[in-house]
Amino acid sequence: MKAVQYREIGKGPEVVEIDIPEPGPGQIRLKVTAAGLCHSDWFVMDLPAEAYVYGLPLTLGHEGAGIVDKLGEGVEGIELGGSYAVYGPWGCGQCRACSQGQENYCTRAAELGIAPPGLGAPGAMAEYLIIDDARHLVPLGDLDPVETVSLTDAGLTPYHAIRAAQPKLFPGATAVVIGAGGLGHVGIQILRAISAVTVIAVDQSEEKLALASEVGAHHTVLAGPDAAEQIRALTGGKGAEAVFDFVGAQATIDTSRAAVAVDGHVSIVGIGGGLMPTGFFSTPYGVSVRAPYWGSRSELGEVLDLARVGAVTVHTEVYGIDDAVTAYEKLHAGTVRGRAVIVP
Ligand code: NAD
Ligand code: ZN
Ligand code: ZN
Repeated sequence: MKAVQYREIGKGPEVVEIDIPEPGPGQIRLKVTAAGLCHSDWFVMDLPAEAYVYGLPLTLGHEGAGIVDKLGEGVEGIELGGSYAVYGPWGCGQCRACSQGQENYCTRAAELGIAPPGLGAPGAMAEYLIIDDARHLVPLGDLDPVETVSLTDAGLTPYHAIRAAQPKLFPGATAVVIGAGGLGHVGIQILRAISAVTVIAVDQSEEKLALASEVGAHHTVLAGPDAAEQIRALTGGKGAEAVFDFVGAQATIDTSRAAVAVDGHVSIVGIGGGLMPTGFFSTPYGVSVRAPYWGSRSELGEVLDLARVGAVTVHTEVYGIDDAVTAYEKLHAGTVRGRAVIVP
């Protein structure tokens, strides 16, 4: 089968031919219907050899969907031929976090060598994908897998970040979304769907700001040293009750800190490596700062339900697997509008 793999440090993704995998006991094989590209894939591929921990070769793709085409021994409750989305942040299934469905915060995954598909385990950017356990499949039903596959990360991650900030999202409050890319353009729609806040989008690209307006941002601000000042002006001086930074670079974290209101919340979702000095003399009174990771199983179901009622739509650019390298180059160059999705 064809697969998109990262094979050599510094070399970028390649389309290669590999064997079709067989599902072991308890495992499920999907015929992949769609796989999304995430900027985190570039974080992984930009790591120097000494920091790289994902194994080589690595089949990419941590946003996946597929049709069940083979069941391993003992698998129950999964329908052959059924269409499913993959819950990606695989955990042990037994620790306290996992038993609450929060496998994204599994305390034992690292120690047990459990890794998400595309981030250690073979990923979804291939014709077939092995799922380690039935609990990591969520039925898609009538949802189009190509249009919805990215909700498994670009939807789930902002949803998880936003839900944690819900007490700050009261009517009259303002939420800032920094980075209107794959995650951000879905984040804006989630904020509009589950709250009555005013949404301000910040990005360094005018095209991304246009997309932000299209998906529901009330105001847009071009990123830069005066972005926080503009946010303060738009909020009558008070700042934003919630800031979701989907970039996480030092410049955007500085903007977040300068733009957040007293008693507000900053969620650093992007993994740009910036730091926020947090403390009595560094952040406005009462501000909480969080760096969330992905989301829970029940939250994935909720995000899919938002799509079912038409409240959230991923803007997708669709590519065949042979064009995966081109798609990754576009993602690196920052010219993907919404999310790029591979259909093997
Ligand atoms: P993307 O490339 O689709 O979007 C990034 C957006 O940020 C683009 O619109 C780009 O123009 C904008 N941008 C980049 N640098 C900027 C800057 N300095 N100022 C303002 N805007 C800027 O990326 P994505 O796939 O949406 O991922 C966003 C970030 O979230 C990445 O860092 C990714 O690794 C991270 N991520 C984190 C988690 C998590 O669990 N915490 C999950 C998925 C992705
Ligand atoms: Zn991701
Ligand atoms: Zn666990």
